[in-house]
Parts: sequence; C-alpha cells; structure tokens
Amino acid sequence: MPTYEYECKNCKYRFEKFQKMIEEPLKICPQCKNESLKRLIGIGGGIIYKGPGFYTTEYRSEEYKRRKKEEESMSSKSSSSNSSSCSCFSGKTE
Ligand SMILES: [Zn+2]
Repeated sequence: MPTYEYECKNCKYRFEKFQKMIEEPLKICPQCKNESLKRLIGIGGGIIYKGPGFYTTEYRSEEYKRRKKEEESMSSKSSSSNSSSCSCFSGKTE
C-alpha cells in the first residue's frame, strides 16, 4: 500500500497516511478541521523529503565563516610577522 504524505496549508500540520490508490485523497485536516490538506506524494513509496535546503544553507554559512576566519588570520599574520628578530645563531652557549 502506498504511503501518502499530507500537509495542511492552513496550520502546516504534516502527517503520513497509508491509503489504497482507489481511496479518495483526504481533505480535512485532523488538526484544525479545515479543508486545506494537500497531498505531497502522489506516486506510491514512502519517500519523505526532509528539507535538504536547510542543510545546504547551513553548510554554506559554516564554510563561509571558516573561509572568512582563514582570510582574517592570514592577513593579520602577514602584517605582523615582518619583524625579523631571529637570534638563533648569535649566541652559542658552550
Ligand atoms: Zn490544519
């Protein structure tokens, strides 16, 4: 039996329902009792899309933050590390 996913356009309530193909699609939202249900999946199979867009934006913002941080640290390094105060060979303690 195919699984149908419904979403209420009114209250955004989402649920899954096992239904026969010949059954009429539901219309009444069990949550708010309005006739505002929308069937998300019409072809059988229980594929549920859990907002992949959320992950991409999350990843992108994270990547952006990291790159910005890297750039900042690079620029600050190049400006301050010019003082050549290396005295490695000056004093040989024997
Ligand atoms: Zn509703």
